[in-house]
Amino acid sequence: MTQTRYTRLKAIKDFGYDIDWDDLKQFHIGIIGVGGLGCVSSEMAARCGVGKITLFDFDTVEIVNLNRSMFKIEHIGQLKARVAAITLKEINPDVKVQYYEKDIMDPSFESAFEREIEQIDIILNGLDNIPAREYLNVKCILLNTPFIDAGASRSGLSGYIHPIIPYKTACAKCLSSISIDVPDERGEPCVASLPSTMAILASIQIQEMLKYLLKFGQMIDYLMYDMVTGNFLSYKTKRDENCLICGKEPQNINNYVRPKISQKALDDYIDNIKNER
Ligand SMILES: [Zn+2]
Repeated sequence: MTQTRYTRLKAIKDFGYDIDWDDLKQFHIGIIGVGGLGCVSSEMAARCGVGKITLFDFDTVEIVNLNRSMFKIEHIGQLKARVAAITLKEINPDVKVQYYEKDIMDPSFESAFEREIEQIDIILNGLDNIPAREYLNVKCILLNTPFIDAGASRSGLSGYIHPIIPYKTACAKCLSSISIDVPDERGEPCVASLPSTMAILASIQIQEMLKYLLKFGQMIDYLMYDMVTGNFLSYKTKRDENCLICGKEPQNINNYVRPKISQKALDDYIDNIKNER
């Protein structure tokens, strides 16, 4: 049999799993944020042979980003999404790659972002701030596009993965009453970032994406990882039927999160969260 770059991937089928690896070619995935998570997940998705990858990131590579895979010294000052798109094409020319050098919460990008989300089969979130996560949650629920949320703690030593299938599993808002180690309360980039923690979280995002797209195995509900103790904690979650975003009677959800949150609104939002605790 002719050997290809997919031979070892297709061999999984021989171990009793009814999957056709070639199916991946028909899928279009979105990766929000080409940071610690997106660098790893986008490369793995390309190596797996996903049909199309759309990257969203408006940032440029800085020297502090060199603790991540993907970026090299010569990339400093260049757009992260563009560097990643070129690298992914070099890794696997079979994969179509496009990128937007846009802030997903920029009002001028909102309609184009919505059009993209509608065409994407599943999104992997790699943004580490609450407003962007809430915004993405609303958009994905509204447009019925699954996404796999993930984030690391500010210390870079722990994190979580939360696959969200709109109207089936708990969305990010359903779980907002759960007290989690918030990655970053002020929407600023993480202070610490450990590439090994990020690689673990991004790898699990890819595992869940593969199971969803190729329809095998059981997806996780909500998983936390703590590298200090080495523990994985698995949680069962439940969709809240009264959820403002994905519940039976959504509260005009298109207006629920504004595209670009003002600093005052962000401060109020954070104060509210603190008061609720
Ligand atoms: Zn919900």
